Amino acid sequence: MENKNGSKQRTIANAVEMEGIGLHTGFPSRMRLVPAPPGTGIVFRRSDLKYFAIPALRPYVAKVSYATSLMKQGVLIATVEHVLSAIAALEIDNLYVEVSTMEVPIGDGSARVFVESLESAGILEQDEPRQFLRLLQPVRVASGDKWMEAVPGEGAQFHYSIEFPHPLIRYQEFSFRAEPESYKREIAPARTFGFAEEVQAMRQAGLARGGSLENAVVLSKEGVLNPSLRYPDEFVRHKVLDLIGDLSMLGRPLIASIRAHRAGHALHYSLCSQILKNPECYAVATA
Ligand SMILES: [Zn+2]
Repeated sequence: MENKNGSKQRTIANAVEMEGIGLHTGFPSRMRLVPAPPGTGIVFRRSDLKYFAIPALRPYVAKVSYATSLMKQGVLIATVEHVLSAIAALEIDNLYVEVSTMEVPIGDGSARVFVESLESAGILEQDEPRQFLRLLQPVRVASGDKWMEAVPGEGAQFHYSIEFPHPLIRYQEFSFRAEPESYKREIAPARTFGFAEEVQAMRQAGLARGGSLENAVVLSKEGVLNPSLRYPDEFVRHKVLDLIGDLSMLGRPLIASIRAHRAGHALHYSLCSQILKNPECYAVATA
C-alpha cells in the first residue's frame, strides 16, 4: 500500500499499554491503545465498565474548564485532550483508547509519552480513503477579548497568541503547520502549565490532585518551580497542542488556517460547534 499524499486511513499495527496517574483525580490509570477498523474514528472505552464506549466527538464533550472531558449516559472520561492531540498529529484515524478509570494518565503533562506509545505500536495504513473536513467559509468566535477564527486554507495551519501578566510569558505567539515530524519536535514535548497561587483553590475544587512538578510547569510569581523549561515559549506551544486535540473532536482533520488569541478549551469547542452547526461552511472531502 502506497501513501504518497496521506490519502489512506491509518490505525496502529499492535496494541500498546501505558500506566500513570490522572492529573485531576490523582488516581492510578492504565491506558491501552488498540487498533480499530476503517471508519471507526477515535473511540474511548472504559475497561472497568464493560468497555463502555464514548466516541471522541463534539456532542460528547462535557466539560472544558482546565481539561476536556467526554461524557455519555453519565459515564465520564476526563483529560482526553493530550492523547487526542498526539493521535491527530500522527494522522491516525481509527483507534480504541481503553482507560481503566475515569481519567487518562497525564504522563509528563505533554503529548510526548503518547507519541512514543503510538510510534512503538507502529502505524498501519488501511484500505479506505481518509476523509477531511475542508473549510469553505470563515468562522469566528469570541468571548470578551478572547477570540478564534478559521479561514479556508491549504493543509492545517495554526497561529496562537497568549498574554499573561507573568515575567516569563507576557506575550507569546507561535505558528505551526500540521506535519507529524515537526509536531514531534516543536509541539509534543510542551507541558501543561498552571499558577502556584491557584493550586490550593484547584485542589479544593477537586482538580489537580495528581498534579506535580513531574507533570506540569508550575509558575511562581517570578519564575517556574520546575528545574527548567523545555522551550522559552513552552506555554504557547502547549496551547497549540491542546487546540490540535480539541479540534480532533470534529471527527475528521480540519483543512483550514486557524488563529487563536488568548483562547482555551471552551473557545476551542465554540469554534467546533460553530463549524458543525453551519454545514454550508465546510465540505467533506477525500485527499
Ligand atoms: Zn493541555
